[in-house]
Amino acid sequence: MVGAAAAALLARAGFEVAVVEAREPPPFDATQSVGLRVSAFSPGSAEVLREAGAWRQVERQRHCPYRRMVVEDRDESSRLEFDAPEFGLERLGTIVENDLVQWALWQSLLATGGVELACPDQVAALENDVGGAVVGLRSGAQLRCRLLVAADGADSGVRKLLGIRQQQWEYGQMGVVGVVRSVVPNPGLAWQRFMEGGPLAFLPLQDGASSIVWSRPEADAARLLGLDEGDFLAELRQAAAGGAGHWPGVLAGCGPRAAFPLTMRLSDRYHARGAVLIGDAAHVVHPLAGQGVNLGLLDAAALTEVLVDARRRQEDIAAEATLVRYGRWRRSEAEIMARGIHGIRGLFMPEELGLLRRLGIGLVSRSWTAKEAFIRRATGRNRAAPALARGVTLADLLRQ
Ligand SMILES: Cc1cc2nc3c(=O)[nH]c(=O)nc-3n(C[C@H](O)[C@H](O)[C@H](O)COP(=O)(O)OP(=O)(O)OC[C@H]3O[C@@H](n4cnc5c(N)ncnc54)[C@H](O)[C@@H]3O)c2cc1C
Repeated sequence: MVGAAAAALLARAGFEVAVVEAREPPPFDATQSVGLRVSAFSPGSAEVLREAGAWRQVERQRHCPYRRMVVEDRDESSRLEFDAPEFGLERLGTIVENDLVQWALWQSLLATGGVELACPDQVAALENDVGGAVVGLRSGAQLRCRLLVAADGADSGVRKLLGIRQQQWEYGQMGVVGVVRSVVPNPGLAWQRFMEGGPLAFLPLQDGASSIVWSRPEADAARLLGLDEGDFLAELRQAAAGGAGHWPGVLAGCGPRAAFPLTMRLSDRYHARGAVLIGDAAHVVHPLAGQGVNLGLLDAAALTEVLVDARRRQEDIAAEATLVRYGRWRRSEAEIMARGIHGIRGLFMPEELGLLRRLGIGLVSRSWTAKEAFIRRATGRNRAAPALARGVTLADLLRQ
C-alpha cells in the first residue's frame, strides 16, 4: 500500500517512476467474504489516497466510516470515548480491506502516465552511491535510478542491502484476526479493551460484522487458532462481555482466523546514499493504535512534498540535504508514535499498574486538550503532518 501510494503520488507530481513489485494485487471481488487484513485509515490517509488516485475507487466499494471510538480498561469502569463531531470531524477513520486499497492503488498506477511496472519481479541486488542506485532484479533486468524508495515491508531486504540497522522489540505476542458477527450488528463503533495478555479490538465493517484484532501471548494465540468456532466464540464472548453499551453481546459466528507476529522496529536512519525508506520498511508499530499504514502513507506524502520542493528550487532530488530533511521529519514522527504506543501498551500490561492506569484514563477523559491532541495525531492532522494529509491537493502543491 505504501510503496504504491508513493509511486502514484510521485508520478502524478511529474516524476518518472519505476515500480518493482513481487506480486500483482488480484482484482478486488466484493462478492467474496471480507478479507482477514483490514486497516483503520485516518482522514489524513484518506486525503493522501485521494491524491494518489485510489480513494474514489475505495469509496465505491466495501468500506466502513466510523464516528465513535471507545477505549476501556479491563474492568470497564475507566474508559475513553471519542466522538468525531466533538473534534469538528465528520469521521474518525474508515475501515477498509488492505486488498481493496492495494488493488485501487494498482489501478491508479496503471492509469497514470510515467510509471514503468516491473511485476512480478524482485529486487535481488543493489549498488547505491551519491549518483543514484543500480537495482538488479531477479529477472536479470537492471534499473538505474536517481533515488531508490524502499517500501518492501517489515522484513525489507533493501534496508538490509543499504546497511541500515534497526532497534527491535519483540512483544512475544501475536495479533489474532478474524471477522465475527454478533446478533446485534456493530453500530459503527471502533471498540478496544485492554486486558491481561493484550488488547482486544472490534472494528466495524460495512455489513454490521466486525473485524477483530486480539493480541495474545504467542502460545495462547496458537491455541486460539486451534479452537473450533464454538469454543473460540465462547472465549471471545467472555473477553468482550459487558462492552460499550453492552455491545457486542451475543456473538453469532466467526469466519477463518489468522495470527500475525507483533513487533516494534525503528530504523536508525531513513536514508542512505541515493535511497530512502518508507512504510514498514522504515518502522513497525504495535497495531493497538491502528497506526502502521497511516504512518507509512504520511511518509509517502512527506517524501512527495520534499522532492517537489527540491525540484522547484532546482536542487538534486537525491542530494544529502534533501534526504536528511525527509528522514529527520518522518523518523521523529514515527518515533513519537512508536514510543507512545509502546508506553500505552506497557501501562496496560502489568496488573500492578491498575491504579496508575485508571488515574491516567480518568485524567485524559476529563481533559479535552489531551483528547484533542491524541485525535489530531491519530487522524493525521497534527501540525507536523504533511500538507497532503491536511487537505492541500497535489495540484496546489505543484502551483506553489
Ligand atoms: C494484526 C494487524 C493489524 C493491523 N491493523 C492496522 C490498522 O488498523 N491501521 C494501520 O494503519 N495499520 C495496521 N497494521 C499495520 C499495517 O498492516 C502495516 O503497517 C502495512 O501493511 C505496511 O504496509 P507497507 O506497504 O509498508 O508494507 P507491506 O504491506 O509489507 O508491503 C511490502 C510490499 O513489498 C513487496 N516486496 C517485498 N519484498 C520485495 C522485493 N525484494 N522486491 C519487490 N517487491 C518486494 C511485497 O510484495 C509487498 O507488496 C496492522 C498490522 C497487523 C499485524
